[in-house]
Amino acid sequence: MRFCCKQLLLLGGLVLLYLPVQAQQAYPKGYFRSPLDISLKLSGTFGELRTNHFHSGLDIRTNSVEGLNIYAAADGFVSRVKVSAYGYGLALYVDHPNGYTTVYAHLQQFQGDIADWVYKKHYEKESFELDITLYPNELPVKKGQVIALSGNSGGSGGPHLHFEIRDTKTEEILNPQLFGFPVADKVAPTFAFVELVPHGPGSQINGSGNVKKMWVQRDKAGNTFLTKQQLQMWGGFYVQTKVSDKHDGNGFNNGIYRLLLLDGKDTLYAFQADAFAFAETRYANTVMDYKQKVLKREQIYRCMRTPGNKSTVVAKRNSDGIIGLLPGESKTLLLVATDFAGNTSKLDFAVIGAEQRTAELLATAAPSERYSPDKPLNIIKEDLRVSMPAWNFYDTLDLVYRKTIKPFVAFSAVHTLHTADEPIHGFYTISIKQNGLPDSLRSKTVLVNVGLNNSRNATAGVWKADFFEAKVRSFGDFYLSIDTVAPVVRALNFKAGASYRAGQRLNFKLSDNLVGLASYQVYIDGQWQYHYFDGKTASLQLPLEKKLVSGNHLLEIVVKDGVGNTTQYQANFNLL
Ligand SMILES: [Zn+2]
Repeated sequence: MRFCCKQLLLLGGLVLLYLPVQAQQAYPKGYFRSPLDISLKLSGTFGELRTNHFHSGLDIRTNSVEGLNIYAAADGFVSRVKVSAYGYGLALYVDHPNGYTTVYAHLQQFQGDIADWVYKKHYEKESFELDITLYPNELPVKKGQVIALSGNSGGSGGPHLHFEIRDTKTEEILNPQLFGFPVADKVAPTFAFVELVPHGPGSQINGSGNVKKMWVQRDKAGNTFLTKQQLQMWGGFYVQTKVSDKHDGNGFNNGIYRLLLLDGKDTLYAFQADAFAFAETRYANTVMDYKQKVLKREQIYRCMRTPGNKSTVVAKRNSDGIIGLLPGESKTLLLVATDFAGNTSKLDFAVIGAEQRTAELLATAAPSERYSPDKPLNIIKEDLRVSMPAWNFYDTLDLVYRKTIKPFVAFSAVHTLHTADEPIHGFYTISIKQNGLPDSLRSKTVLVNVGLNNSRNATAGVWKADFFEAKVRSFGDFYLSIDTVAPVVRALNFKAGASYRAGQRLNFKLSDNLVGLASYQVYIDGQWQYHYFDGKTASLQLPLEKKLVSGNHLLEIVVKDGVGNTTQYQANFNLL
């Protein structure tokens, strides 16, 4: 409901459309300083449509290097420290007395008191991975205090700072630009193309059931337009568009702030990136054209609200964006894209209702297995069980199912459950009956999912009689296999028996053939040692600490995979 109210004020009519953005009075401007002391150039904006999530903050460029000072945006205290080889990598959460929390992620290292505190916690918990909530008096910070150095840790694709602002109490994630950070942007969003998508059985555009793609043209003055053409529509259709935004002196294609589809004075669809709750983030998959995202890496905003889309970044209104025309009826549709600075681009095009549709498409047979998103999806076959809650996919689904036997690949039939380019919202349960699996290997069983581009993902699970059950969050091919191979520890700059100095870093690569690493630990002479593990490169760094005494030491790295296969790497070395 929160969104609706804000939206009605802002999107109530065309009159307000071209005024500067004004929804932000509620947020304190100038309270937070920039977390960096260089000019703010963004490589990612709030609400961008990423695979499986809306981008939840600003990606701030750090001159393509690591190690820049990161400053506390305001007085407050460190409320959470998260250290992970994946995701946000090294991350700090700072609570402020005005009710907001700032988040700083992909850090290279913590600084000052915070660094000392975290270092102790690694030893206390004997773990590189940490997720600790703190009391207000433990690590207070002052506005402008250097709390960390910028980095590229976790799932980061290059040095940058990921910066967020959240409502401390509700944990709602807010667009940091609502708080008035200076980001220079006089460049309006750019439309690349518009697609009209037939929706519903027998729907046609110019006598075809295919998507109609129209590239956006540009004249000498830089104005953009769509080439005028006949667009004869039969049945239902919706509009989607590839649109992005550049900022001043910055080549990155960022997300837009607001996208509207208008029919005269009526707003048929509205997207606006102000805020969202964590539980909403996966709806990004249905706000975009998911298939083109995962198959072609195109970020396409879909101006249609699917029945299963409960996200508040898309305003609830009378129209869900599906358009139908009477024979001979014409409409001019207008797309309006706005960036956070208020720069706006517009595109219009005319459509007309066809007098009759082409005969060949009249007889479209309804598929046998049609599922509605508002009901649970349950499949019970002699060797397959699927149990999915309601609203776990977004729109009516004509489920494709196939079974194939591949005796040298799998310990079960291969069950093809729809296609991997169809998005799934939450986890669901799949159980597959084993076939020919020796009893001795039951504990090594994994569920393999073959996804896009033949990528294989294995999941551990539990046995229920002859069925192996696991939780998954995608469609694709599924079968049972075994993982009996322990992870591999490979030394990169280390030789057993060689001599090293304190302060040197020993580097190792960890890998696993199938189900993936579940844990990794490092010991010297039986004592746990601080180490750094980077998930995206699978590289483990062990700094030889100053407190180690000279002489002979035993290094031990213990790595386990998801079904308990364990490697215990052991080697002696000499400390000079
Ligand atoms: Zn980010």
